[in-house]
Amino acid sequence: MEFRKLPGPQVERISAARILCSPGRESSLRGQTIGVSSGLITNIFPTGSGEMPTGPSGRDLLAIPALGNGHDHGRGAKFLSFGLKDDALEAWVPGFYARPDVDPYNNALLIMARFAQAGIGSAVHFHTMPRTLEDLERELAAVARAAETVGIRIGLVVPMRDRNRLCYGDDDSILGLLSPDDREAVAGRWAYSRIPVKEQVAFVRDMGARHDSELVQVQFGPLGVQWASDELLAAVAAASQETGRGVHMHLLESKYQREWMDSAYPDGILASLDRMGLLSSRLTVAHGVWLTPSEMDLLAERDVVVSLNTSSNLRLGSGIAPAREMIRRGVAVAIGLDGLALDDDDDALREMRLAHILHRGPGFAEPIPIEAMFAASMRVAARAATGARDHGALAPGMKADVAVLDYGAMSADVVEGLLDEAVLILARGSTRHVRSLIVAGRQVLEDGRVLGVDIDMLQRELVQQIASQKAALRLKQPLIGRYQDALRRFYRSGLHMREGFSPGPECMCGDPAGFVH
Ligand SMILES: [Zn+2]
Repeated sequence: MEFRKLPGPQVERISAARILCSPGRESSLRGQTIGVSSGLITNIFPTGSGEMPTGPSGRDLLAIPALGNGHDHGRGAKFLSFGLKDDALEAWVPGFYARPDVDPYNNALLIMARFAQAGIGSAVHFHTMPRTLEDLERELAAVARAAETVGIRIGLVVPMRDRNRLCYGDDDSILGLLSPDDREAVAGRWAYSRIPVKEQVAFVRDMGARHDSELVQVQFGPLGVQWASDELLAAVAAASQETGRGVHMHLLESKYQREWMDSAYPDGILASLDRMGLLSSRLTVAHGVWLTPSEMDLLAERDVVVSLNTSSNLRLGSGIAPAREMIRRGVAVAIGLDGLALDDDDDALREMRLAHILHRGPGFAEPIPIEAMFAASMRVAARAATGARDHGALAPGMKADVAVLDYGAMSADVVEGLLDEAVLILARGSTRHVRSLIVAGRQVLEDGRVLGVDIDMLQRELVQQIASQKAALRLKQPLIGRYQDALRRFYRSGLHMREGFSPGPECMCGDPAGFVH
C-alpha cells in the first residue's frame, strides 16, 4: 500500500484558547496566537477579533509543545499480536527475534501514525536487526520514508552488534543446556554471523548520507554493552566524535546485565565507556534501571541522556529505575515508550503520568517536579531523537512542534482557576485528548486524524500478514519455549558471571527487595 506523501501544508498560525508555553513552569496564556514560519515559531501575539480562540469546533483547546519518545523500536505490529507475551527481558528477546515478517514500510507507518495520534512529534526509532545487511538497508529506507509520509521527526538508530549472540556468555554455555537437536536449531535461528566493526561503522555513515533530512537523523546504535564489543563501542565513539552523529544504546536495563557488566568490567563499566570516549552529549542510553549513584553523577557530568521507559521496565521485569535520584543529580532524563506502554497503546501522556507517580517516592519525599516530567518528554526525549535543543517550549526561535489538546474534555468537572492546566494534563491527559499535531510547522494530525494515512486499513493489513504466518509461528513456539527455559536456568544459576565474581558494595543486585531501588 502506498500513501500519498502528505503531511499538510505549512501553517502560519496556531490559535488555541489556552497556550502552555512551558508546562509546569509558567501558567497559560489566553487569547494568544502562535506565529509560525519556515518550521519555527516566530512570535506569540494577541489573537485578532475575527479568529476563533476556541478552535474550529468550539472546544476549549490547549496548545502545548509536542511530546517526544526517547526510546522506541518503531513497530506497528505489537509483540502480543504474534504471541509474544511479557517476560523477563532475557527470555523475551529470543521471542522478539523470532517475529513474523511484516512489510517494513507499513509497520513503520502504522506506529508513526499512532505516535502522531499520541501527540509525539519526535521519536527514537531503534531499528530491529533483520537477518542480513541487505534487508537492513531496505528496511531503514522504508522507515525513513514512513517518517516523511507521516511527517514526524525520528532518530533513525542503526543496530550494531558483535558479541554474546545467544546469552551473556559464550554461545556454547547456553547451547550446552539444550538437547543436541535444539542446539542446532537455536544456533541456526539466533546465532547471526558477525559483520566486521569497520563495515558496520561505514554502513551507518552511508545510511546517514542517504537518509538524513529535516525529519530524519541517522544515529549509531550499538545494541548495548553486552551485545557490542569494546572494539565496536570504541569505533562508534570515534566516529561519533568525528562526525557529530548521535549514538543510542541500551544500558543496564536488567539485573542480569548489571551482574554481567560488573563481572566483565571489574573497574566499572561507566568508567570504561568514558575511557572509550563514548560518554558525551551525543549519547542517549535507554533504561539505566540499575545505575549506581556514582554512575549517575558521571552521566550527568557528560550530559548523557537517559531514557526511562517506565512501562517497559515493569512489563519485562527489569525493575523501577532510580529516576528521582537521576533528576536530583542532574541527569538529562527522557521519557520513552519502548513499544511497551502500560496498556500496549503508545499513550505518551499516560506514560508521563505513570513515570511521575511511580517515581514520586513515599510520603513527603521530594517528588520529581512536574516541569521536569514535561521536559523529560518534550525537551529531552525530543533531543534524544534529533540531537537538537530547540524543542520543548513554545517561544520565538523554537521548533514549531505543537500538540493541541481538548482541554474542555479533560476539565469538564473542574472549577476554573483553581488548578494549573499542567497539573490536570499530568493527572488525566491521554491520547484521546490529542486533537492536532504540528511538526516543523506542518499539520500532521487534524482533529484526531492523521493526514494521509488510513490507520485502520494499515492495521488490518498487518494482522492479515501475521495471521498468514500463524502455522509457522505456532511451530516455532515449542523451540522458543525450550530456549527460554534454558535461559532461565542459565541466569538463575549465575552462569553469566565470571567464576569467583561476587557483587560489589555499590551493586544493587543483592538488594532484598530486588526490584525497587
Ligand atoms: Zn529498547
